[in-house]
Amino acid sequence: MKNLWTRPKVIVFDVDGTLVDSFLNFSALKKKMGFSQDSFVLEELEKIQNEERKRELLYFLHEFEMEGAKKSVLFEGVLEFLNYCDEQGLKKAVFTRNSQRVAEVIFNKFRLSFEKVVSRDSLREYKPHPKGLEVIGRYFKVNVEEILFIGDHYHDVLTGKRAGVRTFLFNNGNHDIKDWEAKADFIFDNYFSLKRIFEKRFFGP
Ligand SMILES: [Mg+2]
Repeated sequence: MKNLWTRPKVIVFDVDGTLVDSFLNFSALKKKMGFSQDSFVLEELEKIQNEERKRELLYFLHEFEMEGAKKSVLFEGVLEFLNYCDEQGLKKAVFTRNSQRVAEVIFNKFRLSFEKVVSRDSLREYKPHPKGLEVIGRYFKVNVEEILFIGDHYHDVLTGKRAGVRTFLFNNGNHDIKDWEAKADFIFDNYFSLKRIFEKRFFGP
């Protein structure tokens, strides 16, 4: 990464926990699915050989995520920040481990629009694999230094590191982030303060 405070051209957002609070309790889901607490749901699902069992678990996951989407609420300041990105001519994209269908339910619910969406349906290399950020970079014809990624989880920080993309960690209050802090390029607690940082660092005089 050349410089943390070089003006970006593309802002990539995670969805759940970053744009919206979808109240996803993965701990309860893993229990229901019979997965260990330290496992990751998508990766565990891929290991299952029995097709019938796999279909059943995929259905649980879909229901879980769809219910989250229906209950979801935008984090404070998200709309203002997205509008600010538009005003400044920044391109907006999404990289999520959620499904395309559920992501679209969230976008429609809050009238959000992104020029490029990478979901688990469009790319099998889920975060923290960095490929999604590379795909987005190619789509916008920018190099990785011109992208800024925003997420709320260690997965996101790791994804950014692997892709060479600076990553801002949104501290939404739902995680203990103390072990992640040192790894993120920047941490913010709300979108109004992020907007002020953008104004000062990227678009200031
Ligand atoms: Mg997230």
